Amino acid sequence: MDHVDCIVAGAGVIGLAIAREMAQRGLDTLILEAENAIGTGTSSRNSEVIHAGIYYPAGSQKARLCVAGREQLYRYCEKRAVPHARCGKLIVATDAEQEPVLASILANASACGAGDLTPLTAAGARALEPKLRCTAALLSPATGIIDSHALMLALRGDVEEHGAALSLNTRIVCGRIEGGRIVLDAVDSTSGERFEIATAPRRLPAHLTGSTRNSCRNFAMPRAIIFRSPAGRRSRGWSIPYPSRHRAGVPLPKA
Ligand SMILES: Cc1cc2nc3c(=O)[nH]c(=O)nc-3n(C[C@H](O)[C@H](O)[C@H](O)COP(=O)(O)OP(=O)(O)OC[C@H]3O[C@@H](n4cnc5c(N)ncnc54)[C@H](O)[C@@H]3O)c2cc1C
Repeated sequence: MDHVDCIVAGAGVIGLAIAREMAQRGLDTLILEAENAIGTGTSSRNSEVIHAGIYYPAGSQKARLCVAGREQLYRYCEKRAVPHARCGKLIVATDAEQEPVLASILANASACGAGDLTPLTAAGARALEPKLRCTAALLSPATGIIDSHALMLALRGDVEEHGAALSLNTRIVCGRIEGGRIVLDAVDSTSGERFEIATAPRRLPAHLTGSTRNSCRNFAMPRAIIFRSPAGRRSRGWSIPYPSRHRAGVPLPKA
């Protein structure tokens, strides 16, 4: 069985972004995707909004990561020519009773570091959207929209450019801890053939040691499983017998 430094489960936007980061750090990275294409799950069925980070609880990790992440995402879109628009968003009160809610949204956004919301009068909002009926509004200039499919294609390009491999039609079915490694069982969704892939042997973090040795069972699997091989070298091939599904140029195992 071959080892890789990092196995990423799923080629949605999150898996692709993780794999990109790992590959760029020089880790030998393999993405296993159950479907026959990238991004067929939630990532291709969402609203394609770049959120400003207005509504999360102040001080939460979500708030911090959303504000920092949106700026990273805008920069990435510029750099990689991913179609997007920093079009802004209007949050409106349709009657006077809703106006205190706008005030609390404004306060929360400020506490979250998404404090570039601008309060608008009804006339100010209509100057931007003439057909709008409201009594007051907030303008969020940092909210935007993105072509999520183009984003995932750009991420895939980065992933493959940095030497990572993507194996489609490959469903992870379970995993176990064995000899200081994480071993995953996966199945080719088209043929039903099963195979194993493992991370390089290494001292495992405490929460991953212990009772799962010698057993194959479902366990709460982190999205990315990352263990650099002791020598820090790239492995020379994959143990997955699906040459056609790997990008050209990746060394493949003998059958
Ligand atoms: C209605 C809706 C609207 C949303 N709107 C927005 C928005 O406007 N802006 C925003 O930023 N976010 C939005 N989100 C959230 C966003 O879409 C998700 O957070 C994001 O797509 C999650 O990406 P993912 O890669 O984790 O999941 P997915 O895109 O679902 O990818 C998971 C991948 O893992 C694969 N997989 C699953 N099991 C296995 C297995 N056992 N072995 C191998 N592969 C496997 C799947 O086939 C899939 O390709 C929205 C979500 C929903 C539901």
